Amino acid sequence: MNQSLIEKSKQHLWLPFTQMKDYDEHPLIIESGEGIKLKDIDGKEYYDGFSSVWLNVHGHRKTELDEAIKKQLGKIAHSTLLGMTNVPATELAEILVKISPEKLTRVFYSDSGAEAMEIALKMAFQYWKNTGKPEKQKFISMRNGYHGDTIGAVSVGSIELFHHVYGPLMFDSFKARVPYVYRSESGDPDLCRDESLEELEKLLIEHHGEIAALSIESMVQGASGMIVMPEGYLAGVRRLCTKYDVLMIVDEVATGFGRTGKMFACEHENVQPDLMAAGKGITGGYLPIAVTFATEEIYKAFYDDYEKLKTFFHGHSYTGNQLGCAVAIENLRLFESEKIVEQVAEKSKALHLLLQDLTSLPHVGDIRQLGFMCGIELVQSKKTKRSFPPEQRVGYQVSLKMRELGMLTRPLGDVAAFLPPLASTTEELEAMVSIMKEAIHEVTSRES
Ligand SMILES: *Cc1c(COP(=O)(O)O)cnc(C)c1O
Repeated sequence: MNQSLIEKSKQHLWLPFTQMKDYDEHPLIIESGEGIKLKDIDGKEYYDGFSSVWLNVHGHRKTELDEAIKKQLGKIAHSTLLGMTNVPATELAEILVKISPEKLTRVFYSDSGAEAMEIALKMAFQYWKNTGKPEKQKFISMRNGYHGDTIGAVSVGSIELFHHVYGPLMFDSFKARVPYVYRSESGDPDLCRDESLEELEKLLIEHHGEIAALSIESMVQGASGMIVMPEGYLAGVRRLCTKYDVLMIVDEVATGFGRTGKMFACEHENVQPDLMAAGKGITGGYLPIAVTFATEEIYKAFYDDYEKLKTFFHGHSYTGNQLGCAVAIENLRLFESEKIVEQVAEKSKALHLLLQDLTSLPHVGDIRQLGFMCGIELVQSKKTKRSFPPEQRVGYQVSLKMRELGMLTRPLGDVAAFLPPLASTTEELEAMVSIMKEAIHEVTSRES
């Protein structure tokens, strides 16, 4: 029976971000999960070392979350948010505003991080139209940024490998640079920060009159390899956005909801965004809910008599889905009762020590970490920081080896990404790191 399921998957499915030829060689079908482990149809167990693509918080089959959905099902699964609301969407909004940076007072729901970013971009664009500065139409976005895969989100993204092919479809945006300390000439975080900020200021001096907003991931550029921003950088960007009257859109889709040891990563720098996108951990990894937060000032720019046509004409069929909102409420209740954010902050110190154990490996070039968001950059030469030839696919080989050893993750090029569920215990973290160590050791000693 299992073989026939594998055959079906090969015959009919087309998987996201997947070369299907790779899948056909290494098929995998998950059947169940319990705690921080997943089980495939052959009964083999794996640590969920990437939180099922950076989503999972409390582990799988968390009783309270399961129950919250069942309870909501006893009332209703879904009704629209166009022109009306529902009970859980309304209650969740109050909670979200309470836990988010102070200036963010409004929440606009959608179903994925990419949509939450699209919404932020469109809100920023229309904000200036509605407030009498229609010449502010352009965006500044960050090199190596990632904001999701719809065309608008791709336009402000900048990962050559994913985005190059769609170039002709994208709207233009000015590009600025987030410091990448490991790959910089000086290797000095303060210097990197100051250089990047100076460059950004030059761009703003020249173009701020035509710029609606700047979009940036919060504290860590995730998809481009877990590149952690140096201290003071995000706050510096905020200062410049304010100085040059440009809205700041902060993407917390990956970093939000405790992932970095704060509820939202911008708290590390006391940054108050004008617009903020969040998703991933919001439902504990259960259902697709995402949210765009806005300030009251932005909200008010759309509030007028209908004939003024200031309405935000945007929405999706499943916006504000009751089941999703109900499980998000329960998730956030558990954040409080189980002190998830404090726990991540505390356990990430232990994780830091565990990861230090990898520095002795001959091909581990850089270890980056903020909370439970970690990237281990593998290089051919530690001394010169020379990368492995891409065709060797070292990161991919390491992930296959980890799978064999009982842990799932997805590599980002030659960066092994480690984002365990936030509820992972220190013992579980230790077991996962030791699988990573063994896999990296085995593959890199073979490949070099
Ligand atoms: C995952 C991610 C997105 C896109 O979210 P989806 O729900 O996959 O559309 C956007 N921004 C960042 C920083 C992400 O990590």
